[in-house]
Amino acid sequence: MGQETHASGKILKCPKCSKPLEAVLRDGAEVDLCASCRGIWVEHFEEKQVLEIKPEAFSMDELERLRKHYVPLGRLEKVRYVPCPACNVLMNRKIWGSYSGVVVDVCSEHGTWYDVQELEKVKEYVLLGGVEYEKMVKMDQGFSAVHAKLVQETVRLDQRIDSAYRRARLWSLIGL
Ligand SMILES: [Zn+2]
Ligand SMILES: [Zn+2]
Repeated sequence: MGQETHASGKILKCPKCSKPLEAVLRDGAEVDLCASCRGIWVEHFEEKQVLEIKPEAFSMDELERLRKHYVPLGRLEKVRYVPCPACNVLMNRKIWGSYSGVVVDVCSEHGTWYDVQELEKVKEYVLLGGVEYEKMVKMDQGFSAVHAKLVQETVRLDQRIDSAYRRARLWSLIGL
């Protein structure tokens, strides 16, 4: 698709190495890739599609373990603020979600910059129920009510073909 331009007609540049970004398709959504550092720029409206965020249900135990697994994924790197490819204003550094351990650069107006591998890590976090875990933590409900509901949901999910795969994946990740 070639070089990516903003609505203003200006070429979008990589916030990390200033090379022009190239538009590529990721899971049906258009994102902008830096061919040099492999970082990816995802506009806010495309994020849901790129990360395949959809409601799923996991047991409380699975979600608790997920949290323990993901926190250490955060990388120890020197903090460096980089400009938004669209408006050039320095972006905020934020942990994606609350527990992914992945720190991304976010322009509140335009989108999110993922360094190489970060988009994959966040996708895995989403696939393993990270978004649901965050919602659950935020929910102002008693533990038992939530737990009962989740157990119910898990039983229902058990009957689904893909749940076996997903569990196997989770167990292998947390080393059980
Ligand atoms: Zn780059
Ligand atoms: Zn911006």
